[in-house]
Amino acid sequence: MVEQKKKKEEEENLWCSNPNCTRYPYEKFEGDYLNDSQVQGSIKLVEVNFGRKNKDSTRRGFKVRIYPSHKQRILIAKTFGSCRKLYNLMLDEREDLLKRFGREWWKVHKEKTVAQYRQEYEYMQEVDSYALKETKENLKSAFQNFSRGFDQGKNIGFPKFKCKRINESYTTNFSHNNIEVDFRTKEIKMPKIKWVKFRDVKQFPPIREIKRATIHREKTGKYFLSLLLEYPKYPEKKKIISINKIAGYDMSTKEFLVGGSINSVVRMKNLRFYTSVDKRTRLLHKNHSRTKGHSKNREKARLRLSAHYEKIYNKKNDWTHKKTKELVDKWDVVILEDLNIKNMQKFNKGIGKSVTLDFSWNHFKTCLKYKLDWAGKHYVEVGRFFPSSKLCNNCGYKYKDLALDDRFWECPDCGSFHDRDVNASINILNEGIKILKSRGIEVINPQGVSH
Ligand SMILES: [Zn+2]
Repeated sequence: MVEQKKKKEEEENLWCSNPNCTRYPYEKFEGDYLNDSQVQGSIKLVEVNFGRKNKDSTRRGFKVRIYPSHKQRILIAKTFGSCRKLYNLMLDEREDLLKRFGREWWKVHKEKTVAQYRQEYEYMQEVDSYALKETKENLKSAFQNFSRGFDQGKNIGFPKFKCKRINESYTTNFSHNNIEVDFRTKEIKMPKIKWVKFRDVKQFPPIREIKRATIHREKTGKYFLSLLLEYPKYPEKKKIISINKIAGYDMSTKEFLVGGSINSVVRMKNLRFYTSVDKRTRLLHKNHSRTKGHSKNREKARLRLSAHYEKIYNKKNDWTHKKTKELVDKWDVVILEDLNIKNMQKFNKGIGKSVTLDFSWNHFKTCLKYKLDWAGKHYVEVGRFFPSSKLCNNCGYKYKDLALDDRFWECPDCGSFHDRDVNASINILNEGIKILKSRGIEVINPQGVSH
């Protein structure tokens, strides 16, 4: 009991009691979960799951656009450069050690520390030391992934050297209040870089605990900062669910999703963000390749091309967040298929481009999943080998001869006529309800009777 009280007191001390303090929004965080309507504008929410020690908490990322001054931009560029240099130096060293002493080189030889590298290369002293330490950790995990993959017989590549202009970013860790947010002046403090302006966001979520921050520069020259924050665990999930609030969807390349509840079936349109502007993409690529190397015109063409891709990506991302939000608001349970896109591409080459670019099925799924989790709702996935399109939803007959391009079919057993996608969505819905029940969730009729 005493320990618990102490813990509570400590937690309360995290919050500044002075109402004039601008460091954090001073109203206490009562475990209220944000709904996404609160988070608009340039803030994007991302679910992050790595390196979490305390399983009772969740981590959420917030991405804001920042506007560094000229001096700050130079320092940021120096940090990018130093991190990249350090990464390459360390990778080089490890490669060499690996050749000389074999896989367990660390038992025989100790590698150089970040501090030693910093002394050797003076310019590294100018930049944030946490960023350099994080670089070392990145390399470490890259090696761990590689050796784990090697042991399991998976094809994970050996860590590669970093080159300029690809993924320019660096991450720094929170320690001794080195990262702060000031809401009055709309500025964020980063180590070494000091206060930098961020875009005005009307409702910034209450900040509880900052874990780390990443600055990255897009190819178009825009700067963004992602903050990783820790929150208490998800709200508890609903135990009793009305059948009207359960939706099952079938994925199709033509319409993005087809399905709904037992009462209604809706077709969502696949907007084909990439293929719809294919002409312009090709034109821009052509213009870019016609310019001469290292000329000003090439730089201009590159910028136009990057801006073009960025715009499409933003459109798609925005659409994904809006659609998933819509689904989460409408339903208590969403049931989807577990699809292996990579395998689909292998067997059906025609859908390659439209699936990978226009579809981004996995991104849609992750967004939907964490939004449901935050709202205390359920996400159910129907197994990969469930024959959703081949079963007749009326009598349960399995129609083995169904071809991939058959849009409609008639059940040889009971004679009912099926639209391929609608039939699949009904099967997915029924199978999902079974899975839901096996998890101990009660499904009730609108009359309140157990289904
Ligand atoms: Zn049938």
